[in-house]
Amino acid sequence: GGALSLRGVEHDYGQGRDAVHALGPVTLEVPAGESLVLVGPSGCGKSTLLRLVAGFETPTRGTLTVDGDQPEPGRQAGVVFQQARLFPWRTVGGNVELALRLAGVAREERRARAGELLARVGLEGVAGRRTWEVSGGQQQRIAIARALAGAHPLLLLDEPFAALDALTRERLQEDLRGVSAQTGLSSVFVTHSVDEAVFLASRVIVLTRAPGTVALDVAVDLPRT
Ligand code: ADP
Ligand code: ADP
Repeated sequence: GGALSLRGVEHDYGQGRDAVHALGPVTLEVPAGESLVLVGPSGCGKSTLLRLVAGFETPTRGTLTVDGDQPEPGRQAGVVFQQARLFPWRTVGGNVELALRLAGVAREERRARAGELLARVGLEGVAGRRTWEVSGGQQQRIAIARALAGAHPLLLLDEPFAALDALTRERLQEDLRGVSAQTGLSSVFVTHSVDEAVFLASRVIVLTRAPGTVALDVAVDLPRT
């Protein structure tokens, strides 16, 4: 699952005279299992496109579906943002367990399952730690584990490594690629970094900003390594 279809999708923030045209029109089909990376200059609508796919916003014009359905928040996709946004009053494991609870996983299974998810993102032995005790890179790993907790077919990531140092970013990119390969998840990843795009993508979409509009410009299929 996780196939994406966008047909003439446009988005405006605000209405009438105050409307800001943020995206589109964009038309694209992404088969299940693809790692789509969106690149483009600041303000071209990358985050908006991701928010539409997540179901946080509804397209102003056009149709957008995930596996044939209109997206609803929390239904089809797990989401990771630039900031991990963990619950500080919970432990590392508690954050993942809460996501499992919201996903309907039985109480007695949550602890073991959280441990598995944390191990999958290279985090063993930190489940009992406080979230403020762990590094920024570890916090993003926790955010990824939490996003995987819902076992959604689609993972959405909005510049998740932008605030991290180069070495940590490289390690996380490698781990994320491993997670994609292992799980067969579809993903949409927003980044400013062409290096990151080339490393993570099976398909790169470049959004450009034309006067008053944003057009889908290039779609390149890269071989997966
Ligand atoms: P990117 O992620 O590529 O930087 P965004 O999707 O954040 O681009 O923004 C696209 C355009 O929409 C920009 O012109 C931005 O200023 C505008 N925009 C984004 N969010 C809002 C908002 N909540 N209200 C009004 N305009 C917005
Ligand atoms: P602490 O309670 O010490 O802050 P955590 O927040 O990590 O530690 O939670 C410990 C355990 O309690 C975890 O198994 C977590 O799933 C469970 N838990 C915490 N809050 C809730 C809640 N509101 N509903 C259900 N389970 C919860």
